Amino acid sequence: MAKLYYFTSTMNAGKTTQLLQFNYNCIKKNINTLTFISTLKNKKNCIRSRVGLKNLAIPINNKINIYKYIEKYKHMTKYIFIDEVQFLTKKQIYEIITIVDKLKINVITYGLKTDFKLKLFTASKYLISLSDKIFEIEALCKCGKKAIANARINKFGKKITQGKQINLNKKIYIPTCRYHYFNFIDKKK
Ligand SMILES: [Zn+2]
Repeated sequence: MAKLYYFTSTMNAGKTTQLLQFNYNCIKKNINTLTFISTLKNKKNCIRSRVGLKNLAIPINNKINIYKYIEKYKHMTKYIFIDEVQFLTKKQIYEIITIVDKLKINVITYGLKTDFKLKLFTASKYLISLSDKIFEIEALCKCGKKAIANARINKFGKKITQGKQINLNKKIYIPTCRYHYFNFIDKKK
């Protein structure tokens, strides 16, 4: 039976590095894979991890029907990797479960669980409900405790809790533990 896997964490936890490593292991064993990256810009076609690994990835925006796309490659694909899965829509998560259950292809997704206001992304909500296996990749807060949130900071280094859910500038996020999310120490410039 094919399975849907969901790897979740805060930012800077090494999700992309792990995705690339799994993909590399598959390629070495001659297992065919397809790698996607969910993107709101539709420009990125390369997954890069902070440790320097990279891999070509097919960009998918919110309008693509992932099931229809994959159907063409169903006979030659065993694993599908999706990075930045938090940006997919509810409809696309349902397309993914159809890929798993109907096409019998394993789908391994990586993404953030919550936004800077601690609110679940829509995709995260459905992945938590529907995945066969859920794994958490741990990032650490500055204090050494497990990070559970991505605090967003303004240009003065102060935590903000207002604004649009998505801002793609990675520099404005700080992984924090629960205590330091609510008792945030302003980042001195
Ligand atoms: Zn902390």
